[in-house]
Amino acid sequence: MQALLKVELKLMWRDKNYVDGAWVDSTSSEFIHVLNPSTEEVIGRVPKSTAADVAAAVAAATGAFPDWSSRAPSDRVGYLAAAHRRLGQQEDRFVEAIVADVGTPAKIARRLQFGLPRTVLESYTDPSVFPGESHIGNSLIIREPIGVVGAITPWNYPLHQVVAKVAPALAAGCTVVLKPSEVTPAVVMLLAEVFGDVDLPPGVFNVVNGAAEVGAALVTDHGVDMVSFTGSTRAGREVGAMAARDIKRVALELGGKGANIVLPDVKDLDRILKNAVGNCFLNSGQTCLALTRLLIHESQYDDAVVRVAEIARTFTVGDPHDPSTKLGPMTSRSHLQRVRDYIQLGIDEGARLVAGGLDAPNGLDRGYFVQPTVFADVNSTMRIAREEIFGPVLSVMAYTTEQQAVEIANGTEYGLTAAVWSGDSDVAMRLARQIRAGQVDVNGGAFNPQAPFGGYKQSGNGRELGALAMDEYLEIKSVQQ
Ligand code: NAD
Repeated sequence: MQALLKVELKLMWRDKNYVDGAWVDSTSSEFIHVLNPSTEEVIGRVPKSTAADVAAAVAAATGAFPDWSSRAPSDRVGYLAAAHRRLGQQEDRFVEAIVADVGTPAKIARRLQFGLPRTVLESYTDPSVFPGESHIGNSLIIREPIGVVGAITPWNYPLHQVVAKVAPALAAGCTVVLKPSEVTPAVVMLLAEVFGDVDLPPGVFNVVNGAAEVGAALVTDHGVDMVSFTGSTRAGREVGAMAARDIKRVALELGGKGANIVLPDVKDLDRILKNAVGNCFLNSGQTCLALTRLLIHESQYDDAVVRVAEIARTFTVGDPHDPSTKLGPMTSRSHLQRVRDYIQLGIDEGARLVAGGLDAPNGLDRGYFVQPTVFADVNSTMRIAREEIFGPVLSVMAYTTEQQAVEIANGTEYGLTAAVWSGDSDVAMRLARQIRAGQVDVNGGAFNPQAPFGGYKQSGNGRELGALAMDEYLEIKSVQQ
């Protein structure tokens, strides 16, 4: 095992932190092993860093801030453009790391886990993304970088979530200390290499590995001016509370429980149901924006449930390298257990299991695989309708009136995403305006990587993506003349 580990480590990434432009050992000698969720084999390790490692990285970021923040935006985004080009030369390497680390089927990983973040990075290579100065009466309004950003990211889209923070932060003139998920660090380590390759000045981007306690050390370090966190609502609550001690600005991208409302006047129900199942099962359901509650009018409900179950069964589960695979594994053993516990809970709560279930998919006795699962007859009081499961589990719910559909959609503590389908786009827009969520798709409107993304209610604070996300990383100064 040790020999194998050494070879793999050499192949994929370094088991160090990236601080002040160099790969450095942690002050701890402990490591966190990283597993391939399809095979359960160890594919690498990262240091279990300490608060001292965090402090060293924050000191490096603090030291780099005066020079970086005073450069012209065109100079800063030039490094992002170079990183964008360098990423393009390494596509296969990144995709391979994501497939091995996250378990996303290769075809989907290439488009979503690599292509999307590369597009997001590109969107910050135009210097005009930095907002200009303006006047209000006798005041000059200036925007300035907030300082050192502590960024903490989850495991489900490890490159996208990092780029969605780091690119606008660097473009704004901030320096960054990142703590990636300890479950899927691979691509982040490769990204640090890319920033080294393009000679990003030392200390501008730093990575400290580890689990929750390293995240907590970063949030509470007095040298960190702003915290940008993506992860669970549970951890986001703790991060917000810790950051409040220093009155740090916090951006939180948290969980979701998206509702997908299908009105009875739709023209092509079958196409919509296929879209709905595909959306919910994206990245094996490990997607914060997944629409996990499908709301069907009572007049179409019984037929739709039969059809949704049939569609779900077409989602082949298995080896992410096999081009016919649509669903890879859950990314970790503990997450597999969590998803199975929710399937059991749905059964116990009296929901009707119409596809999938608790058993491992046929022939998959190794790896963290779950069957694509559909529950019918789910109502809003059930926990499976209110809590984020984060696996390939779809709840189909019936409604009678449009108003009731909106109430169901708004009836959770989350408010990240929703969708509305109607043959009448005015009706769809009317409902979209009533939904308390940061993103609403109308009649299959495509994801827009330039549009602000974020949550209402306990799905978070702040917005990522596009020019508006720059605001998170900028202070506003009024100079009276
Ligand atoms: P998580 O909250 O367990 O961990 C997220 C990150 O925070 C990890 O790096 C983890 O080590 C760290 N962390 C955990 N507890 C911490 C603490 N007390 N203090 C500081 N850091 C801490 O989430 P996860 O399981 O990695 O990711 C899944 C969750 O992320 C889901 O709830 C999902 O909805 C959410 N998510 C949200 C978005 C969004 O944009 N809204 C995007 C992707 C994922």
